[in-house]
Amino acid sequence: MFDDRSRKYKNQYVSLKSVDIEKYEPFVGKHMIDELKWISEPLRNKVWANINSTFVGGGVAEMLQSEVPLARSLGIDCRWFVIEGSDSFFSVTKKFHNMLQGIDQPITLQEIFHAYLDTIDENTRNVRVVGHMVVVHDPQPAAIIMNGNVYGHILWRCHIDTTNASRRIWRFLLPYINQYWGAIFTTEEFIRTPLQIPTYKISPSIDPLRVKNKQYSRKEALGNLSSLLDKNDIDPDRPIVLAVSRFDVHKNQKSIIKAFKLLKNEFKGKKRPQLVIVGNSATDDPEGQKMYEDIIYEAGEDKDIYIFLNVKDNDRVIGSLMTIADCFIHISTKEGFGLVVTEALWHGTPVIGSKVGGITKQIIHKHNGFLVEPYDYSGIAKSIKELIQDKDMRKELGKNAIEYVREHFLLPQMLYKELILMRYYLEIDNKIPPFRINDLTYREISQALYGRTVWPFSSDDLKKRIETIIEGFEASWD
Ligand code: UDP
Repeated sequence: MFDDRSRKYKNQYVSLKSVDIEKYEPFVGKHMIDELKWISEPLRNKVWANINSTFVGGGVAEMLQSEVPLARSLGIDCRWFVIEGSDSFFSVTKKFHNMLQGIDQPITLQEIFHAYLDTIDENTRNVRVVGHMVVVHDPQPAAIIMNGNVYGHILWRCHIDTTNASRRIWRFLLPYINQYWGAIFTTEEFIRTPLQIPTYKISPSIDPLRVKNKQYSRKEALGNLSSLLDKNDIDPDRPIVLAVSRFDVHKNQKSIIKAFKLLKNEFKGKKRPQLVIVGNSATDDPEGQKMYEDIIYEAGEDKDIYIFLNVKDNDRVIGSLMTIADCFIHISTKEGFGLVVTEALWHGTPVIGSKVGGITKQIIHKHNGFLVEPYDYSGIAKSIKELIQDKDMRKELGKNAIEYVREHFLLPQMLYKELILMRYYLEIDNKIPPFRINDLTYREISQALYGRTVWPFSSDDLKKRIETIIEGFEASWD
């Protein structure tokens, strides 16, 4: 996927690949495609910059890899910057991530000022990021708003389940977040601390055109997997329980193993299930290796458990495994959304998911999967058992699963909302987007009531000042 990226800047991704928007029509219908073309017309050549902390690994990178080229093919100058940092930077930002997800951890001033804030400064010392809309993803780059080298309508996009975020981390991040023009959350329930800026709700999405999300037939999928299955002695005629995610403490893979061990001996011969766990680690996640080792330890010598780290031909293998699996399991203790859940549902595989965060937005109990408590091993085991034993139920839930994703979580639907937001901030539309969460903020009301209409200089002078600033911005791109 990344072979098409411009090599001009080490930390900037500009896709050179063109995407044909019409190819999405079979998935979302002609009306949505026409709408996208229409709303993007006035956004042609306008800059939409994204900033996050990794090009690969995890859901944010996954989405941007598809969204940037698609927006560009609509004529929008969509760009993607990645901040760079040392191990100590990613170790402190991983602590932010964990704290936002409710695990309180000690952080030193040295970590905050040196590892975090100095790194943010270094990232933009020689690079200015300028956009008509700039979306800053997650806490890693959040403080970038304060260092004076990012310009435009800057929005913070939170992909994390912040329902029980530690007060300490909010107290640190809030002064930054409140400087943004707005913040986007996956669901309103994640906002526990009142923000003084506009907030919006946009669900993440998957790209149906990606190799990973191609809807393979079972025969095709088995063909794609033949060497992996043969080499590891996995029998596709026996039930397969699949889990895919980063190796991360919140993904709770150890509980999957515990639940699986409770039930597997109830079955004999060809009926005995196999558990396949596939995982990777993102470049911005320093805890992956340790978690991987812990999970291997938990599995022990069990011959029915297969654990893979960084599989070759990742996308094809994951899509194919999701196709042939009898059930998919994702029982995180915290989950911003869980794109893997969406992906598995899209492959028509019922998902056993935990009742947390974004997973509850995707699974309707007994309609497209099962909702369970993340540490209820016997409840999880019971759900796995029900699914692997009942083919008709699997088929029914699988059918519903595909339709649910088609209706709510495909890339063009997410892009549509983001473009509506861009139009709103550029004042192309003056209607508040329907997915706005909070009421008007004090700043907005005061602007509407007392917005300055008389400036202490002439309009020519004002125009000249603005032009000089914009010229400065443009020069900074090259
Ligand atoms: N993923 C992958 N290979 C792996 C593990 C995960 O390609 O070995 C992908 C997975 O298919 C999904 C993304 O990484 O697209 C993870 O996104 P999710 O939102 O589920 O979790 P996050 O890692 O962002 O917390």
